Amino acid sequence: MTKKVTVFGSFVVDLMGRTPHLPVPGETVKGSFFKQGAGGKGFNQGIAAHKSGGNVVMITKLGRDSMAEVALNAMEEVGLSKDYLFYNDEVATGIALILVDENTSQNEIVIVPGACSTITEEDIASVEAQIKDSAYVLLQLEVNQDANERVAKIAKENGVRVIINTAPYQPITDDFLKGAYLVTPNEVEAEELTGVPVNDLESANKAAQVFFDKGVQNVLITLGSRGVYVNSNGRAEIIPAFHVKAIDTTGAGDAFNGGLLTALSEGKELWEAARFANALAALSVQKLGTTPSMPTRAEIDAFLAEHAE
Ligand code: ADP
Repeated sequence: MTKKVTVFGSFVVDLMGRTPHLPVPGETVKGSFFKQGAGGKGFNQGIAAHKSGGNVVMITKLGRDSMAEVALNAMEEVGLSKDYLFYNDEVATGIALILVDENTSQNEIVIVPGACSTITEEDIASVEAQIKDSAYVLLQLEVNQDANERVAKIAKENGVRVIINTAPYQPITDDFLKGAYLVTPNEVEAEELTGVPVNDLESANKAAQVFFDKGVQNVLITLGSRGVYVNSNGRAEIIPAFHVKAIDTTGAGDAFNGGLLTALSEGKELWEAARFANALAALSVQKLGTTPSMPTRAEIDAFLAEHAE
């Protein structure tokens, strides 16, 4: 049975422009291509979890502006409930300005989280019942951290399993980590949070121990095209990624975390859930964009059947 899950996190509109070269300060460059799309780690993960078959409560905060429509339309398109959105009457919906050099693929990104960094106690109180009623709550570090701390506290106090995707990196308290069911840093974040550079099983074990010492129950470190390190119930292993031709790895971590959430909500063990999430991420990196590249459940099942061990 698929249990209810909550994804609590950011929404920003990605505003992407391609240019012959990245402008230096004061310079204006005529770009060649522009695309606008729904983004933000929380939102991407919510879409990935929903499209892969999860019963998702998506909680984020928007402004009262045309940018909010981008979120609403994206949710409408995939049939994700809009009942758990907050609004800020004064602060604009979050945006990410992304400049991509069309020759080198180097980028420059400015994120203005806007409304989704203004989540209040009252906002959270209005969705407390949903949080308590979930089997898992998935958090990232892109909204105001006091809101994350509050949601984590409510969840932990009510026996709801908390998954913390530690992206993008920012310092977090031990109290926030304590009692979390799972943390899911990538290699870089794992090093930033533990001080241990992660590059193989042995170093991952050392980093995992730092998380265990802080009271985290399970540790999963994503390793890009190498796959994912999982340490759970005294067993530690690297589960390899699927070999695919990646064309855009932006949002791979979001795809992975969303897929992981769905699989766990269906009662899959962490190991099997990680394989499912690897499949979802492998499908997403073969397409351009973030939310549009999240695969459907049918696509994931077909991919897994094709790649049966
Ligand atoms: P992030 O995007 O947060 O930096 P990673 O780069 O570690 O996260 O990628 C997350 C997951 O996406 C990996 O664990 C893997 O399952 C999948 N993935 C990433 N890059 C590739 C790739 N080139 N081929 C196949 N799977 C990939």
